[in-house]
Amino acid sequence: SLEARDIRIRFGPLEVLRGADLLAPAGKVVCVIGPSGSGKSTMLRCLNGLETRTSGQVLLDGEDTSTLDVNVLRQRIGMVFQHFNLFPHKTALQNVTLALTTVKKMPKDQATATAMQRLKDVGLADRSGHRPAQLSGGQQQRVAIARALAMEPEVMLFDEVTSALDPELVKGVLQLMADLARGGMTMVVVTHEMGFARQVADTVVFMDAGVVVEAGPPEQIFDAPGSPRLKKFLAQVL
Ligand code: ATP
Ligand code: MG
Repeated sequence: SLEARDIRIRFGPLEVLRGADLLAPAGKVVCVIGPSGSGKSTMLRCLNGLETRTSGQVLLDGEDTSTLDVNVLRQRIGMVFQHFNLFPHKTALQNVTLALTTVKKMPKDQATATAMQRLKDVGLADRSGHRPAQLSGGQQQRVAIARALAMEPEVMLFDEVTSALDPELVKGVLQLMADLARGGMTMVVVTHEMGFARQVADTVVFMDAGVVVEAGPPEQIFDAPGSPRLKKFLAQVL
């Protein structure tokens, strides 16, 4: 499980998270929705130690992550971003292999074999020698997902991973994420894809202005929203 308790984060005068909580039980999918600027990405980045908080705790399997080495934390919690963040001059295979040899200290041939397997898992075995510029956006995002999965994380974080994709490429990446969820991966997914949230999420978390306004199963959030702010948000996006 991954849990954030009463997280506060400020950037200068602006308090971006104002006591936000989130719980992703093991094997479950939490989708985070909410307006632009509400603090969704900040929350996700906080979960794997990319942001400094002024207060609050992040617990991984009940263990306070502030005591963990940040490199260990990022191995245990994988993250995929909107803009892929692949190394442009490296091939798909090299992108997936790199952290295995440098961070996990895996021997090169074992790292290559592992990376090839992960590329195969995301349907890209035949693109392993391509550089990012030679791949479609959807394929680049699959490489980024394969790279994160190669580290064998306990939890995966996804931050609007389909937002930069051409519409026809979105479905394949969402399908891959749904398959991952079905395989039992613990996931926190920031998304604008309400269909995905409805179908795949165990819990949907609605954030606004740095707090969690409402959280619950998709049927509750989408069909019986309680708060005026959530109703207004849904009226705009659905
Ligand atoms: P979006 O849906 O547009 O991605 P979001 O919910 O992910 O929005 P965040 O990126 O978490 O929102 O940003 C929350 C607030 O914090 C915004 O007002 C943003 O401008 C501000 N913010 C985020 N990162 C920083 C930073 N490094 N320095 C200063 N302000 C920041
Ligand atoms: Mg964001």
